[in-house]
Amino acid sequence: MTEIKLYNTLTKTKEVFTPLDIDNVRMYVCGPTVYDRAHIGNARPVVVFDVLFRLLRHVYGEDHVTYARNFTDVDDKINAKAEQTGRSIRDITDETIGWFLEDMGALGALEPDLAPRATEYIPEMIAMIEELIEKGFAYPAEGHVLFRVKEYQNYGKLSRRSLDDMIAGARVEVAPYKENPMDFVLWKPSSGDQPGWESPWGYGRPGWHIECSAMSHKLFGEKFDIHGGGLDLQFPHHENEIAQSCACYGEDTFAQVWMHNEMLQVEGKKMSKSLGNFFSVRELLDQGYPGEVIRFVFLSTHYSKPMDWTEKKAKEAEATLRKWHKATTDIAIGIPSVGVINALADDLNTHGAITVCQKLYSKRDFASLKASAQMLGILGADQGDWAKSADDRGIINDDIREIITNAVFKRHNAKLQKDFATSDSIRDLLTDAGVILHDQKDKPAQWEIPDDVDVSKLEALK
Ligand code: AMP
Ligand code: ZN
Repeated sequence: MTEIKLYNTLTKTKEVFTPLDIDNVRMYVCGPTVYDRAHIGNARPVVVFDVLFRLLRHVYGEDHVTYARNFTDVDDKINAKAEQTGRSIRDITDETIGWFLEDMGALGALEPDLAPRATEYIPEMIAMIEELIEKGFAYPAEGHVLFRVKEYQNYGKLSRRSLDDMIAGARVEVAPYKENPMDFVLWKPSSGDQPGWESPWGYGRPGWHIECSAMSHKLFGEKFDIHGGGLDLQFPHHENEIAQSCACYGEDTFAQVWMHNEMLQVEGKKMSKSLGNFFSVRELLDQGYPGEVIRFVFLSTHYSKPMDWTEKKAKEAEATLRKWHKATTDIAIGIPSVGVINALADDLNTHGAITVCQKLYSKRDFASLKASAQMLGILGADQGDWAKSADDRGIINDDIREIITNAVFKRHNAKLQKDFATSDSIRDLLTDAGVILHDQKDKPAQWEIPDDVDVSKLEALK
């Protein structure tokens, strides 16, 4: 059996992965808060842990891996959106979950086996909070329940921070009902129009962290194998999850291996709405980037390194995938190369796996390339339509040819009349759509339609 090694954030070492139960390898990944389209940063953990899911299934068997990824469907950002739009919370979260699954599907992500919604586990959260109070790790105060951080000796073991560092660095909320500013909320009161449930502490709703502790316990039990998410979740979210679960069920419980993907940036800068470099996955797809290309760009950087989304990388990925599709479309699938499996088993070295795929292509071992790339979630049977030639995609018809022919003539005439503004603008529209022009002396240019033509851009020439 392939030996998998994973870097464990908890121990800060790369360790041989040994499942607790080889018949049921369990992985929990923190999913999105559902109030808006996922941005491309949100897609990084989805793609990273999808590759790990595929690898685990390959090594332990499809029926011996359980992957859970939650939806946070109770959150103040969702409440704010409901207030702004006048829509119900359920309506907003249902719609956003639908978008999320559709957009992540376009990136070739398999759906996890379990997709728990926080609002469906409120009784489990209440039971866990009661147990924490009973054990002295939590206390009710003014309709809230807070986790007593000082009581949990190992607080900070994941992010390796001391309590003093945390108080100095974190934006801890000081509130009169807290015994200590570091104490975090397990339950809080809800007023009339906020979502809420009856509880021993009054009408209210859970704090954010408790959901993952309660849901993973319900679905996986006290111990499971892998817990993942973006690096931004390491503190405080994951630190608090550990405190809640280990305080409740014992020190050696909860996830054995913790994995965190580094953050995604755009053209070297942190993504932010004010910089105008903030894209949803849907926006990128609508701009014409195939999901498979987006995925390939993501996988070309190791998950533990910051990854930069650039247009240049997307163009290169597109060219590579186009070649690979051409070579493998009519080839029967072989078996994944040992080199690719070994790269992935070495802490998910997706960059290394792609390099091996490139070698397979050079050696013309297309059967193995196809199988190996599918381990990465690319070159799947349903993924290559975008890479077919323009003719095969059936998008070139007589109308399109006529539009181009007319435009080329118009441009030629404009040039003869020295109306260069018009001739240049026609040229720009054609080349922007991808049409290749071969200028001729004293006659209209000859033209070619490349495979990546964007026919929608030809509309403007009608
Ligand atoms: P959220 O909906 O904000 O809770 O985030 C959902 C997931 O996306 C979490 O695992 C985050 O760590 C991850 N995430 C958010 N922003 C980024 C980013 N820029 N790069 C990589 N992962 C991110
Ligand atoms: Zn979580």
